[in-house]
Amino acid sequence: MNNSPGQLIVLAGPSGAGKTTLAHHLVETFSSAAFSVSTTTRPLRGSEIEGEDYFFAGREEFLERIENGYFLEYAEVHGHLYGTSRDWVRKELSSGGNVILDIDVQGALQIKEALPASILIFILTPSPDVLSRRLLSRNTDDPDVVRRRMEVAAWEISWIGSFDYYVCNRYLEDSMMQVESIFRGERLRIVNTSFPPEVRTFTPDRFSGREHWNGKRVIVTSGPTREALDSVRFISNRSSGLMGFSMAMAFRDAGADVLFVTGSACISRPSGVDTIPVETAEEMHEILVREVEKTDLLVMAAAVSDFRPSTFHEGKTERSGIIRLELEATPDILEELDRTIDCMCPVMAFSLEFGPDGEKRAIEKMKRKGTAAIFYNPGDVQGAGMEASSNQGKLFFTDGSYVEVKRSSKRYIAELLVAAMGRYLMKGNES
Ligand code: 5GP
Repeated sequence: MNNSPGQLIVLAGPSGAGKTTLAHHLVETFSSAAFSVSTTTRPLRGSEIEGEDYFFAGREEFLERIENGYFLEYAEVHGHLYGTSRDWVRKELSSGGNVILDIDVQGALQIKEALPASILIFILTPSPDVLSRRLLSRNTDDPDVVRRRMEVAAWEISWIGSFDYYVCNRYLEDSMMQVESIFRGERLRIVNTSFPPEVRTFTPDRFSGREHWNGKRVIVTSGPTREALDSVRFISNRSSGLMGFSMAMAFRDAGADVLFVTGSACISRPSGVDTIPVETAEEMHEILVREVEKTDLLVMAAAVSDFRPSTFHEGKTERSGIIRLELEATPDILEELDRTIDCMCPVMAFSLEFGPDGEKRAIEKMKRKGTAAIFYNPGDVQGAGMEASSNQGKLFFTDGSYVEVKRSSKRYIAELLVAAMGRYLMKGNES
């Protein structure tokens, strides 16, 4: 099954830079790409067609839609309101379509905030002269309007550092090829594709079990948690959040409805899953108490900061002399959940262990915590565990069986673990 959600690609930059032409080029070139038709309060121009170029609305109606949450983003551009339909974008993306937005820079920044996995491309002309000539040659704006647009352009360009790609639209043919390459490259990224189906057809046994997750609800916790020392500093750990992120994507691609509860990881949020960011172990616990009852599997991939300072200092502690820290243990999330919630779903735990007895300790932990499975990964092997893009280890089950995964990318390992977990539970094994 390949049900990866589509991607949102935003072309933004000053008016007249050529983004509409490039956006339409993408839609004409790739059958999976669809153009999002914005709503605007500006009057219809010459050859424009309602529903094809824009949906035209009155200001009152537009403001009402803002109130009702209709827009994924909206902005006032050159005196008129423009906005993108939230529902339309969501539906396209969840059915696997790729959405192309041709919007202004304010809107692009809002999109990145709401959907961090979106791709922002900044389109610019090679010089201010070219931009103003293009605006004048469109014959749709008088010279005063063109002057104002040039002023706005300077402000828009100041945001270029928030974008993922830059295309200088000197020659249209070249620019078309560049946006095509970005589109193609992004679709080929491993994190954006469901795991290559060809790999599964070569080794079907390793991947059987994924089908178990179709339509199931899975919570994946991820990332490091942080515990504040004062308003500025915190203690935490070296987790990058990549293992949890990869698990969320692998369950998503297997058809599960995923809730991703993540600490402050240094990687972006996965697209197509609900994400709840948390800071502390306590906050993570609170979310799980609320959510775990409606869940078919809880995956505890988060690296919880096991300790927290016993006291919190409001403001910024002065740098002087020696400061003695007193730490206390944070709540053991699984134990607490077990204590407070009756019907706990099966749990898949992760256990990072050091030293030759690591495996033994991981198995003991699985028994002590009553989890259905535990993934032991060594912390003292270079290129595995925390801060590494790859991992290795063994997924142990309560019936004594296990699945070994050799050194591979965390994304690949996640695919194998999702399948192995499905196989195990399909046999009727639950803790
Ligand atoms: P025009 O009126 O010339 O078609 O567009 C003016 C500006 O508004 C362009 O920069 C265009 O990309 C931007 N724009 C069009 N639709 C939207 C939208 O839905 N949201 C935002 N933020 N800007 C838009």
